[in-house]
Amino acid sequence: MPGPGFYWMGEEEKREVLDVLESGYLFRYGQLDDPAFKAKTYTLEQEFARQCDVAHCVACASGTSALLMALQAIGFSAGDEVIVPAYTFVATYSAIVFAGGIPVLAEIDDSLTLDPADVERHITPRTRALMPVHMLGNPCDMDGIMDVARRHGLPVIEDACQANGATYHGRRVGSIGALGAFSLNIFKIISSGDGGLLVTDDRELYERAFAFHDQGHTPNRAGVEVGRRTTLGLNFRMNELTAAVALAQLRKSDRLVATLRENKRRFREAIGKVPGMRYRTLHDPEGECATLLTVLFDSADRAADVAARLNTTTVAQSGWHVYSNMEHVLAFLREHGRPHAIGAYPRTDDLLARAINLSVGVVDRGLGAAFGININSTDGEIDRAAATFREAVAPVQVD
Ligand SMILES: *Cc1c(COP(=O)(O)O)cnc(C)c1O
Repeated sequence: MPGPGFYWMGEEEKREVLDVLESGYLFRYGQLDDPAFKAKTYTLEQEFARQCDVAHCVACASGTSALLMALQAIGFSAGDEVIVPAYTFVATYSAIVFAGGIPVLAEIDDSLTLDPADVERHITPRTRALMPVHMLGNPCDMDGIMDVARRHGLPVIEDACQANGATYHGRRVGSIGALGAFSLNIFKIISSGDGGLLVTDDRELYERAFAFHDQGHTPNRAGVEVGRRTTLGLNFRMNELTAAVALAQLRKSDRLVATLRENKRRFREAIGKVPGMRYRTLHDPEGECATLLTVLFDSADRAADVAARLNTTTVAQSGWHVYSNMEHVLAFLREHGRPHAIGAYPRTDDLLARAINLSVGVVDRGLGAAFGININSTDGEIDRAAATFREAVAPVQVD
């Protein structure tokens, strides 16, 4: 079950794709002044960079590859450590592992994002970067994170895969740290089936990321000379068909996020106050994507009971984003002498056991968000979902 962009896939995407197909040319490079070359990937990069108010963007194959490119761009070496939250999608960890490094997990705060107060105690001489994750469309405490990063001279790579379009104090997430990574898979805000976007304001980081994503080439393959090639890369390029869909989706993204925020406001108001339950902290309530409405109960038992009545799960019971449910990650951490047992991150465990994600725009059982509304829900449907939720949380009558 998909993210909101998928629900709005329509004529605009079809037009962009047909434009490419009719040109018969699907590769991302071509002559920009040739009218037969549609330059969708190039245009996507330009438009997304402008939207994020940064100088550079590289479109690529996935959010995972964008994270890997970001690590390569900062000059990552084997054995380097990156501090990451204990609640995130597995790709945050695997990008670090496949760059030769070690993900060092830290606690989340009650926004369910990386807690800057817990980051500092994990910093060692091997720490090479911080990788906060804007989980569930909600910006991290970036002031706190940037402060720790500055004091220790560490670059910040923002994993913004779930928060395309979110802002933090007026700045787009992904543009605050050194680099920001976005995903275009089907569960994300906007989607082209798969795809990724990496943004940075730094020319040097951009060139290194670009080179890694395309066999060592300079941006747009301009001016590479035999005998003067310095960088080895791989192939994480985007093609024109993917970029065509992504471009049409991108042009809808502001409207999409505005709709989610409006739907979420109505959903939350209709649910209202519930004794023993509160909403997760939002570090910038005006800036989140509003893909989910996350509620926190006073006890894990109550959360599990409510989740069962709604035919969904608590966040802790969802399989995909919780460190303690990632047997492969735990095996890696064990091999590298890192904390790997359930209970290693007690605050994270406690919060996730008490949390339920209600869908607003991302409907995804893997995220624990099987109950809620979607971007096309009518006011009546939103009110009915809220009423169902209120029934599920009503205290059991004992007489
Ligand atoms: C989706 C996601 C990714 C990976 O994106 P892909 O495009 O699927 O590779 C990375 N980090 C987080 C937090 C994500 O949600």
